[in-house]
Amino acid sequence: APRSGIDYAAELNAEQHAAVSSPPGRALVIAGAGSGKTRTLTYRVAWLLDHDVESRNILLLTFTNKAAREMITRVQELVTADTSDLWAGTFHSIGNRILRRHADDLGFTRSFSILDRDDQKSLLSAVVAACDIDTKQRRFPKADVLATIFSLIENTGESLEDVLATRYPYFDDWIEQIDQVRDGYAKKKRDTNSMDFDDLLVLTVKLFEERPDVLDLYRGKFRHILVDEYQDTNSVQSRMIDLLAGDSNSLMAVGDDAQSIYSWRGADLDHILSFQRRYFNSRIFKIETNYRSVPEILDLSNAAIRVNQGRIEKDLRSSRDALGVKPALVPLDDPASQAAFVAQRILELRDEGIPLEEMAVLYRAHFQSLEVQMELTRAGIPFTITSGLRFFEQAHIKDVSAFLRFVTNRKDEVSFKRMLQLMPGVGPSAAEKLWQNWLATGLADKDEPPASWSEVMLGFKPPKKAAKDWEQLCYTLDELSPGGVFVPPSNMLFSVLEGVYDEYLKASFDNYENRRSDIEQLISYGQTFDDVLEFLAQLSLMGSVDGEPSGDKRAKDDECVVLSSIHQAKGLEWKVVFLIWLADGQFPNSRILDAEDDAMLEEERRLFYVAITRAKDELYMSYPMINPKSYTGDVIQRPSRFLDDCPADLVEEWHVGRGGWVDDDPF
Ligand code: ATP
Ligand code: MG
Repeated sequence: APRSGIDYAAELNAEQHAAVSSPPGRALVIAGAGSGKTRTLTYRVAWLLDHDVESRNILLLTFTNKAAREMITRVQELVTADTSDLWAGTFHSIGNRILRRHADDLGFTRSFSILDRDDQKSLLSAVVAACDIDTKQRRFPKADVLATIFSLIENTGESLEDVLATRYPYFDDWIEQIDQVRDGYAKKKRDTNSMDFDDLLVLTVKLFEERPDVLDLYRGKFRHILVDEYQDTNSVQSRMIDLLAGDSNSLMAVGDDAQSIYSWRGADLDHILSFQRRYFNSRIFKIETNYRSVPEILDLSNAAIRVNQGRIEKDLRSSRDALGVKPALVPLDDPASQAAFVAQRILELRDEGIPLEEMAVLYRAHFQSLEVQMELTRAGIPFTITSGLRFFEQAHIKDVSAFLRFVTNRKDEVSFKRMLQLMPGVGPSAAEKLWQNWLATGLADKDEPPASWSEVMLGFKPPKKAAKDWEQLCYTLDELSPGGVFVPPSNMLFSVLEGVYDEYLKASFDNYENRRSDIEQLISYGQTFDDVLEFLAQLSLMGSVDGEPSGDKRAKDDECVVLSSIHQAKGLEWKVVFLIWLADGQFPNSRILDAEDDAMLEEERRLFYVAITRAKDELYMSYPMINPKSYTGDVIQRPSRFLDDCPADLVEEWHVGRGGWVDDDPF
């Protein structure tokens, strides 16, 4: 019997139990939404710990770091074994962790900075400017597009030529110059000891490929590898798993081909479909029971996905009793009425006793949440947002972080310049001059920060207007690393705020107070860290494309309605789900309709499937019939074609008037 006393056979169904208790080896669990795949993985971790596997030999790869934390918490509730040495997180965070130990083998130092999208864009713009490309005749791709192109190359393994041909044919003529920029960008990252998000994956793979000894080290360590949401791994990620798994490590991947929604970022369904071919002797487990949704919702989702051609046949049975309430289809006059309906209904449901955190509003694109955000605010309903601009991506948060980043990585040109441009009279050229001054001291290459920044930098010549601020900046840097030793991250932030940033904020923004309290919140978050490098890595990873719920200051995770894009809602569940903007042209969106590409439409339909399968008890699908925001004036919208695919008797149409009240309401 297992040490923990967990009754595995009772808490899992036969199929789940078979997977959880299978002997070490290669296993793929492939099953529909809500069938307990994530639960199976969680119990598998518990089972391993229960059978004398040490936590340091386990690697758990999840879609968000939050998901990893939740699974570990769950495991800790199940077993008594120590889980502290278990590595769990996203591919990016695991890559980061590995690279922090071996960056020197790749020509970086261990204190490398992580570039987010904005940093990436400013580096790219600098590289383009330096390449001296003649753009008078034809338009050259902007930094944003370049970043996307380069990212696609890394994540799909396609060549630049192919990416341009298939996705950006109108930039085909620029191939030589784009290639030149790509080289320049790679060099720039090296010179500034910085990695972008793709590098965290690509360089980890490179490290493993070039250094068999390092690979052996991690192969020896991670005897048991577990992967959630396997359908959304791209080729670099799948390569990383292949390398770590080697010939003999145990690997359990769980996924659902019907929920693959990241092909636009290079995810390839083929990784799941070819699993058996790639892993000789692997076992496949299927789970056919759904534990999440009532039959009414499950019937709708089965019908919705059945239309897709490219899928593995599997119909789910519900384990739950019918509620007697069908999913609601709610046409509304316009976006404002839709928002009013959502807010109204949330209040009613809360009165019925459903906690706010058991309700979510989901949408295809972040901007579609604006009216709902406003309406919820007006109605005094607290919410958190897991899509869109996140706390850690805001300019003022990045400004103060730049000081910490530069002090810890003295080659970080982007952060240095960001810091300088807060000063009056310092533009790009003055910043460049000061950067050159700094490089000329030779101190950027030293392993430690200078004992005194002011001693070194007070001698530089900033523009006259900035003379006083410059002095202030130098003294502030001294406070961050007095005598060349870093103080804890929250002390650093405090010095930056009081030393220079507060004054800048006051002078620059009308919402000074909000921004200041954001920074104060960051300071209190920083108090949970001693090590500034760890703190900075965490910040970068939280703002990542991989999606982490925002540290929204409005409220904590509890007692809040969740607003989320469907992509960010993957793997999650709520009692009540509102799916808004379910109109043709919105979802599926018009770009996809215009493309008339079946594969794209199928992916969009999988997204619809992901959305409706998040709901446990109640599902509201709404759309505004008139969209007044369009450039062309009011646009009449028809319901999403995805609804046409579902038999009409599976949904109940609601009639709601302006203001969000149900028409037959007595009031
Ligand atoms: P998704 O495809 O959306 O990621 P999933 O397959 O990972 O879904 P889980 O999130 O693991 O499914 O499980 C869905 C819900 O069903 C959870 O609330 C889970 O606790 C519950 N559940 C799964 N298996 C069982 C079981 N054998 N007994 C009771 N509840 C279960
Ligand atoms: Mg899951």
